[in-house]
Formats: sequence, C-alpha cells, structure tokens
Amino acid sequence: MPLYAYRCKDCADFEIQAPMGQVREAVPCPGCGAPARRRFTAPNLSRSSSSAYRLIESTARTASEPAVVSSPGTGRRSAGTGITRNPLHQKLPRPD
Ligand SMILES: [Zn+2]
Repeated sequence: MPLYAYRCKDCADFEIQAPMGQVREAVPCPGCGAPARRRFTAPNLSRSSSSAYRLIESTARTASEPAVVSSPGTGRRSAGTGITRNPLHQKLPRPD
C-alpha cells in the first residue's frame, strides 16, 4: 500500500498507509486530533529497492565524491617479466 503524507499545523508531518483510491483529504492528527491536511508528494512506491534508484544514487554519489584510488594497484604484471611471457619472444631483436 502506498504511503500518504499529512501535515498537522501544530505537530510534525506524519504518514499513513491507505489503499490506493481510499485516501482522504484530511485525517485526524495522531498527536492532537486536529484535522491534518494531505501533503502532495512524489509517489514512494518501493523506490529504494529498484535497480534504477540504486543507479541514480550511485551516480549522484560519484558526482560529489569520486571514487579515488591511492595507488595504481599491483596489477597482473610484475616488474621484470615484460609484456609477454612467450620464451620465443626473447630472441626477437631489441631496440638499442
Ligand atoms: Zn497535530
């Protein structure tokens, strides 16, 4: 069921779950009992579990905090082995 947000003039905002189509424009505030008007918000239908939302979150995070590495890492090549491991390549002429 979707969440509907309401705002009481005296208390804080609160949300209630109601079946779609049975939402009311004003409900009694759980804090003081005064009628609280409905707040119109973006639909909040399990956004946090969708892959699209995760992509938006990660994109926004990397925009302000890029993932920075402190070193280039070890990699697969170690120093001294050169580019190739084929022993036949050792006989090829080398530049001076
Ligand atoms: Zn209230």
